[in-house]
Amino acid sequence: MPRRFAACLLVLAATACGPKADTVIQGGMVWTGLSSGEAQPGAVAIQGGKILAAGDSVTIAKYVGSRTQVIDARGGLVMPGFADGHNHFVDGGFQLGWLDLRDAATPQEFVRRIAQYAGKLQPGQWILGGDWDHTLWPGQRLPRREWIDSVTPTTPVFIGRLDGHEALANTAALVAAGVTKTTPTPAGGEIQHDSRTGEPTGILKDEAMGLVAQVVPAPSAEQTDSALARALAYAATLGLTATAHMSASWAQLASYRRLETAGRMTLRAYLYLPLDEWHAVAETIRVSGRGSDRVRIAGLKEFMDGSAGSRTAFFFDAFDDSAGYHGLLRNSEQNMRTWIGDADSAGLQVAVHAIGDRANANLLAIYDSVAKAHGGRDRRFRIEHAQHLRSEDIPTFGARRIVPSMQPAHLIDDGRWVQQRIGPERIKTTYAFRTLLDSDAPLAFGSDWSVASLDPLIGVEAAVTRRTSDNKNPAGWVPEQKITLGEALRAYTAGNAWAVFAEQQWGTLAPGRDADVIVLDRNLFTMAPESLATARVVVTIVGGRIVYRKS
Ligand SMILES: [Zn+2]
Repeated sequence: MPRRFAACLLVLAATACGPKADTVIQGGMVWTGLSSGEAQPGAVAIQGGKILAAGDSVTIAKYVGSRTQVIDARGGLVMPGFADGHNHFVDGGFQLGWLDLRDAATPQEFVRRIAQYAGKLQPGQWILGGDWDHTLWPGQRLPRREWIDSVTPTTPVFIGRLDGHEALANTAALVAAGVTKTTPTPAGGEIQHDSRTGEPTGILKDEAMGLVAQVVPAPSAEQTDSALARALAYAATLGLTATAHMSASWAQLASYRRLETAGRMTLRAYLYLPLDEWHAVAETIRVSGRGSDRVRIAGLKEFMDGSAGSRTAFFFDAFDDSAGYHGLLRNSEQNMRTWIGDADSAGLQVAVHAIGDRANANLLAIYDSVAKAHGGRDRRFRIEHAQHLRSEDIPTFGARRIVPSMQPAHLIDDGRWVQQRIGPERIKTTYAFRTLLDSDAPLAFGSDWSVASLDPLIGVEAAVTRRTSDNKNPAGWVPEQKITLGEALRAYTAGNAWAVFAEQQWGTLAPGRDADVIVLDRNLFTMAPESLATARVVVTIVGGRIVYRKS
């Protein structure tokens, strides 16, 4: 008779002889994510990489055996791992190693940092990254290439604005790309010219950024692998156990697969490749499948419009601060209708960026016409950002089960200036979390990293408080659109699982789900809402294995 079973016979409680867990997390508050209600005192048992049970401490204690690893949550919160529904994960990994101008508060500081960084490079090596924000600067003037040419004569510079919709190229970069005063403006973009000389100022918007982007040397496979590895290590410290990588490239997919083969994928990655490559994606899936539960081709991604920050989001009414201008579409409605129709026929999920109210309304109409033409199917169309919506369009998300894939942390910044752009009426349905949830929309949250921070707790705090970074909205910017903590956490967990067709696999602590579990140092439900982002992840578990433990 095995010793363990013999021991059971000595115990009166029959329950002591049941299955034993590999890991039990106890001593904390548990939020299972099955509802948006509060956390309860309890414990979680994990076995074979899956959730065995979550419940009160006495019930879970029966799963502790002699070989069970017991983790003490020390009064913190035990919950499903965070999933990030929209980011550019590998790009974020590159950014971790690039020049960061996000907090350069003056043009002088902007130039000083570029000069300092250029001094560390070999001639000809590019300066990339940036994330500068001219709205922080006195006068809010856009930067010009002349500002930095003298400190970067042989160093091509191509650095994006924080929102990713405009970039500054220095003269060396414009020369490398062959951009001159006579270069035609690409559709869906803008080359800014000096009003006096007609020469390019170095500012390129949306599709025009491609003129320079296409001559930036592509990173090597090794460089891509190390960027991904950097991103994975960082994500684990933030409690991320799944991610949806938008606009992923084939080279990035290959990098994910290499790291997976090497056993280094410490989260579940869902990749969305470019929509106009739907045929190649469909063919890849036909030949070799979608991938595994760690690296998976989830669908396709494309853009309708640009951003409000660079006035390239597409609106019904003109911008309030740019008379007669409505923004732009990056792809024609006809192309979008064709590509989405083709992708849907191939059974692929479609995710499209739409920010302005008209871009959103047009996209909803395209989705509707494709669904009607192809008949009923569980297709879960996604709208990435869904930032500015007309009231009458909001119920469509719930009625048609279209995912609003939103990034609450963007409002911390946008809330400072977006009313100048679009006026007091339209902001009432900007980041309309409350109205969307009330109309039963399948809300999913993400970060848009590397455009914003990858930290999901910053997004959670933003959704709950709607405070802006200028501290001018202490009670919340458009406060009627606030949601509860439990609702925000659901959008960062189960909401994202549903958005990638993985709700039967992860996203809650229900028995049988993958054991993607995190422990936070505090119970979020008893914290002041405005300090939620100060909580820290202390343990991250993916598939039952600890991938991060705070020392
Ligand atoms: Zn994005």
